[in-house]
Amino acid sequence: MTVADGFSYRDHELHCGSVRVVDIIRETGTPLYLYNLDAVLARFEQHRAAFASFSHRTSYAVKANSTLPLLQALTNAGCGFDVNSRGELHRALKAGADARRITMTGVGKSRADIEDGLAAGISLFNVESASECRLISEIAEAQGMVADILLRLNPDVETETHPYISTGEAAHKFGLSPSDIRSLASQASWLPGLRIAGLAFHLGSQILSPAPYAQGLRVLLKVLDDITPMLDRAPDIIDIGGGFGVRYDAHHGELLPGQVAAVLANVLGPREETWTLITEPGRSLVANAGVLVASVEHVKPSEDRNFLILDAGMNDLLRPALYQASHSIIPLRESDADMQLYDIVGPVCESSDTFAVRYGLPSLERGDLVALLSAGAYGSSMSSNYNSRPLAAEAVVYEGRWHLARERQSLDDLQRGERLLPL
Ligand SMILES: *Cc1c(COP(=O)(O)O)cnc(C)c1O
Repeated sequence: MTVADGFSYRDHELHCGSVRVVDIIRETGTPLYLYNLDAVLARFEQHRAAFASFSHRTSYAVKANSTLPLLQALTNAGCGFDVNSRGELHRALKAGADARRITMTGVGKSRADIEDGLAAGISLFNVESASECRLISEIAEAQGMVADILLRLNPDVETETHPYISTGEAAHKFGLSPSDIRSLASQASWLPGLRIAGLAFHLGSQILSPAPYAQGLRVLLKVLDDITPMLDRAPDIIDIGGGFGVRYDAHHGELLPGQVAAVLANVLGPREETWTLITEPGRSLVANAGVLVASVEHVKPSEDRNFLILDAGMNDLLRPALYQASHSIIPLRESDADMQLYDIVGPVCESSDTFAVRYGLPSLERGDLVALLSAGAYGSSMSSNYNSRPLAAEAVVYEGRWHLARERQSLDDLQRGERLLPL
């Protein structure tokens, strides 16, 4: 029985592809992030196929999950990357990415971010302020280069997602208003180190309807028409960002890339041919192809609750504490033990370190293993050392075999670079 992208029960044991998860755990211990890269690649192919009628490039949003073997597998499949910092750029290059398929976004790019991007030869900077335009132009000019940029439009479109992950409304810090973009384009000749190659937007994350993309694209085309006469060379790139919603549990739908492609084609009509379209999927490629495996540390019945205390906590998987996100939780071994209602929590000293409340699972004991599903996106990439807890180990299954992607941090790793007082 399939439980997630690339995960299923066979003979009552959870498998990742054809590998029994408990066999990996025996080598790595818990907590462990485990990704099925074959399933990620299938999602990537689905995404690419959906936009095949466009001149199209996929820029996977590295922040969703920057595990090196994942970036390597996507590189080999022909995927490009959207990076948010020089740290992510460095990771993408380490994984073998072609810099000409890398775009750099972010509302607060530093001089070092921009210098590294130019030195690597990335294809585009997505720019979010006039100040950033001036800085990129200055750095590029000093190096005798011209940087291609997209201006990030804030289309002021509402999305029905969690307020923390919505980004395309006027009140948000992201992007430029249509009038800001017109004014920047009119000054473009004053910025000799850059060329405006097109416009971009990113509406937010976990969007479940294609309508906001159509709305955003209409605003974007209008602004493009306004600025094109002001520029030496007609802009030819449209970037619609990411945000494609995934199915976190049976109660929710998902947004398929084909639905978005259909509304875009509809808005563009015959103009489709004119543009190179960039999409920046993050979550939709990786969320359901990853799990966080944890051990039951203690079972603690109290007056009206039964706590299941795991060895994974909010420092490993922050989404429930940060966004009230819920993840399905399943035992590694299917059993027909009596069902119990558990409050499933981590070991961290915060009440928000709670994964689920009154959650039904077959009766479990100390040492039993569970998997938190849909943990492939914004899981390990958001993890921290809070409570001086080492970062979890990570492993992948690729072409049917499993590989360690990251060792569990040691206690010495936790103090790396620190100094005692000279007493
Ligand atoms: C976060 C982000 C993405 C990816 O968003 P998902 O919801 O993971 O698809 C794409 N583009 C930009 C600019 C982002 O900030």
